[in-house]
Amino acid sequence: MVFSSIIIDMSRLDDIVSLSKRRGFIFPGSDVYGGMAGTWDYGPLGVMLKRKLMSEWWQYFVEERDDMYGIDAAIIMNPRTWVASGHTTTFSDPLVECGDCHGRFRADKLGKTADGHDLSAKVTKTELNKAKVKCPTCGKSNWGEVKQFNMMFKTSVGAVEDATALAYLRPETAQGIFTNYKNVVDTIYPDLPFGLAQQGKAFRNEISPRDFIFRSREFEQMEIEYFVSPDEWEESFEHWLKACHEFLEKRIGLPSDCIHELDVPAEDRAHYSKRTIDIEFDYPIGREELMGLAYRTDFDLGNIQRESGKSMEYRRKDSGATFIPHVIEPSFGVERLFMAVLSSAYDEDEVGGEKRIVMRLPEHLAPYRFCVSPLLKNKPELVKKAQKVYQDLKAKYHNVTWDDSGNIGKRYRKQDEIGTPKCIVIDFDTLEDDTVTVRDRDTTKQKRIKIADL
Ligand code: ATP
Repeated sequence: MVFSSIIIDMSRLDDIVSLSKRRGFIFPGSDVYGGMAGTWDYGPLGVMLKRKLMSEWWQYFVEERDDMYGIDAAIIMNPRTWVASGHTTTFSDPLVECGDCHGRFRADKLGKTADGHDLSAKVTKTELNKAKVKCPTCGKSNWGEVKQFNMMFKTSVGAVEDATALAYLRPETAQGIFTNYKNVVDTIYPDLPFGLAQQGKAFRNEISPRDFIFRSREFEQMEIEYFVSPDEWEESFEHWLKACHEFLEKRIGLPSDCIHELDVPAEDRAHYSKRTIDIEFDYPIGREELMGLAYRTDFDLGNIQRESGKSMEYRRKDSGATFIPHVIEPSFGVERLFMAVLSSAYDEDEVGGEKRIVMRLPEHLAPYRFCVSPLLKNKPELVKKAQKVYQDLKAKYHNVTWDDSGNIGKRYRKQDEIGTPKCIVIDFDTLEDDTVTVRDRDTTKQKRIKIADL
């Protein structure tokens, strides 16, 4: 199933945030202490959906292919990693301070230039003041110098806190792959082209975390580095672009009319990229980047070779030719995929004259496939029969839930909100003829079905 003909309402973010908290998908990080900006915690329902998204990705991009291998590298890496990769000098966003209220903001996200264009990452103080860009906090337009702010989180390793112990939390999972490239080549001898995939946490000290989980300081990435011979990069780039679309549209079921490509101009590309296509999605906050596809050339392996003094060359088995492979990188953010799924699934309609909120999640992603209930909680014979149905389904499908709280109407509302496709109710007729009521989330229609046919 895919999300069909769902029109995404741009004002929906608050509804989604509130449902996420109310139903246990996502809570603000450190909620009990008043939160921690840019961090979010997945609750029982959220973690189920998140894991399904991640395993769908792994299955599609790794397990179903012959040319892909997985790795799982450490988050804290030797700091030389970030010197070689260029992150210590260039992984920064433009930071500007308001001269009136002293609020600090990411300069390129404050508005438009005087002639109506988006502000670029190289925006200056003069440009901001000339365009009379307003401070989001105090409304004045009195900007100071724009400075580059490095987004890597620093930490210290071991029982000392001086410069020798300085390390960083990885700002991308990619470097864990590049630094293991040689280990993989020397142990499993893959034929080129081949790719390495990794899923895991990444950390960025974003200047202005915002828009729910969209821009977080701690998030999860799913990245692939695909190693090719330098003359094959264009063909490979096209292949991966297609694969990314197929994953998002066919495997996850996102509506294709909400997915767009942005060919990123040279001045906006990351320092390592010769070509980038961002795949953008129509979120409730507007059209924004869901994932990126970049041609990283031999930038990373070349730098690792220089920094480590170890050869990163690949030797072709057929011709004996040696060269540093070039790299195509599809890079997904789990949070942005999660938010795209939630915003596509969220819907409101009316049932029996009452407003209903329903998460129209595809069956294979819904946290629970079935909810089983006895019609009445205080009738032991119904509860016993319902328990048997529940246990049997649970043994077969695992993600089955039990609900005997409130009345049936309330149970349906709750299951609609968490996206459970089918609710199964055991009533007095069940005791007579072994049939149950199966209620469909999307149509709200009910059918009588034999237990044996469930
Ligand atoms: P943006 O321009 O939105 O800051 P980016 O271009 O810096 O993103 P990349 O460095 O290409 O992002 O990272 C790859 C992917 O990681 C992004 O497409 C996105 O899905 C995810 N990602 C990056 N930064 C964040 C963040 N702060 N919060 C959540 N996901 C993120």
